[in-house]
Amino acid sequence: MRPISYSRATDTATAIAAVTADPTSDFLAGGTTEIDLLRQNVLHPRRLVDINGLPLTGIEVTPEGGLRIGSLARMSQVAAAPTVRERYPVIAQALELGASAQLRHMASMGGNLLQRVRCSYYRDAESACNKREPGSGCSAIEGFNRGHAILGTSEHCIATHPSDVAVALMALDARVLTQGPSGERGYEFDDFFLLPGDSPHREHPMEHGELITAIEVPPAPVARHSLYLKVRDRESYEFALVSVAAAVSVVDGTIADVRVALGGVATKPWRARRVEDFLIGAGVTRENFAQAARVELIEARPTAMNGFKAELARRAIVRALETLTADRSGSPA
Ligand SMILES: Cc1cc2nc3c(=O)[nH]c(=O)nc-3n(C[C@H](O)[C@H](O)[C@H](O)COP(=O)(O)OP(=O)(O)OC[C@H]3O[C@@H](n4cnc5c(N)ncnc54)[C@H](O)[C@@H]3O)c2cc1C
Ligand code: SF4
Repeated sequence: MRPISYSRATDTATAIAAVTADPTSDFLAGGTTEIDLLRQNVLHPRRLVDINGLPLTGIEVTPEGGLRIGSLARMSQVAAAPTVRERYPVIAQALELGASAQLRHMASMGGNLLQRVRCSYYRDAESACNKREPGSGCSAIEGFNRGHAILGTSEHCIATHPSDVAVALMALDARVLTQGPSGERGYEFDDFFLLPGDSPHREHPMEHGELITAIEVPPAPVARHSLYLKVRDRESYEFALVSVAAAVSVVDGTIADVRVALGGVATKPWRARRVEDFLIGAGVTRENFAQAARVELIEARPTAMNGFKAELARRAIVRALETLTADRSGSPA
């Protein structure tokens, strides 16, 4: 048995100082990732600093008309917020399609971004895994890899990023705001999630003791017409095989603004910029959607078991875009 000390922080500076001072310590929010992995002998903190007493639960409209979500706001709280549902439906849908009702009540937004991969080898302390133990090898590359990534992989790790809401936030150009030993920082969402490369154990650029305080979403009129499509093996309580966060604005039958991000297929929440570049200024047709999806998946690198994901992703992109545009310009040709 390993002893773990536990303390409850009442202000942000104390929480940051406590974790910074001890390299074996972790922040504890809802605990739905941290405690799971501690029990599975994957994480080994000697000290947990409970941050649930910090005043970081607000969901506010910013002066510019965007959204600021406190890192300790619960998934269910954000999904239910009227301003989120009305202005950013893709965020509410991504949250509601994740985990279970009980988990969504416990799980915080900051913890959601930092949840760990669902690769079974990562969660089995006996298996070789470069992410858990750098340099030990990757059991998934030649192992059971049906759920693994086809985009953004490396020869060192092919695990899929598991968060749903991070996919929606990626499509909306969100920023992660932090406070830490070196002061306050802001990260563009795309820079916050690191590709595995040759150091898959490094998943984000934060230093030890850096605390996510909020997630900021810029104003995005296009987001009022957005959706999250999640394809999975069963209809609830399951991670995505493929997911699509999409928002589209159509003017006179032409696409004026479009945002697309993919989940379940990549090692980080994947902004589908090729889809967006192809579609801006294009007509609302199924042919254009299908061609855009093909272009995005050109660099897919499937494993022995997950070749189906490329086709599934192409179809899911088309379906999401068709669903979003069908009601405004008649059925796409
Ligand atoms: C059975 C199951 C099914 C699930 N299904 C889904 C799903 O379908 N879709 C989905 O998106 N997610 C899913 N999840 C993941 C779940 O959403 C995450 O576990 C949860 O969001 C983590 O939040 P938490 O507050 O519990 O974080 P914790 O477990 O408390 O923390 C997670 C990590 O983040 C760190 N941390 C937490 N808050 C901060 C902060 N503010 N600043 C810096 N570090 C911090 C902790 O130290 C820890 O390392 C599932 C989880 C389970 C157990
Ligand atoms: S895919 Fe990544 S997380 Fe899974 S075993 Fe390989 S290195 Fe570990």
